Amino acid sequence: MPEQGLTRTLLSKEEIASIVARLGREITEHYKDSDNELIVVGLLRGSFVFMADLVRQIKRPMITDFMTISSYGDSTTSSGDVKVVMDLDESITGRDVLLVEDIIDTGNTFSKVVRMLKGRKPASLRICTLLNKPSRRQVKVKIDFCGIDIPDEFVCGYGLDYAQKYRNVPYVGIYGGPVD
Ligand code: 5GP
Repeated sequence: MPEQGLTRTLLSKEEIASIVARLGREITEHYKDSDNELIVVGLLRGSFVFMADLVRQIKRPMITDFMTISSYGDSTTSSGDVKVVMDLDESITGRDVLLVEDIIDTGNTFSKVVRMLKGRKPASLRICTLLNKPSRRQVKVKIDFCGIDIPDEFVCGYGLDYAQKYRNVPYVGIYGGPVD
């Protein structure tokens, strides 16, 4: 039975776990010969649940950090404006950076963050997203580790919100409009 306000389950807990395990294997394999320090950077708030699960599937030493970018308000459409609300604590210069995102939609937010982080001269910068909405893309984004392509629906759960709600829902569901 979906959570009130979510019309249907898009990805179950089990499907998410299997995607995250596969991403963890791909990422572990990718960095296996690198001597650089790996820093896994999560974009708050949407990525916090995914990132918590993902880092435990990456079998190598790492450090973690978070950054808060504001793009969406309480609406389901992108304003296109991006603001750094909270920057990283750590320097990324000379480190392997793995940027972790919950969902890439138009690509506007992400491309701006990527450009900014590249300016800090990391040894490498790779991108991992759990969900990808290719049909909505406005800006080209190279995704190195992609969980799953999804249709053009507004989704919530597993860290993703509508008006800050639903982040604790353990699956990804399709949002069906406000409920009282
Ligand atoms: P983009 O700049 O790629 O259009 O937007 C990326 C951000 O928009 C994501 O980090 C997420 O916060 C928000 N977003 C895009 N699509 C969805 C969606 O279907 N559900 C939710 N909850 N947020 C979304």
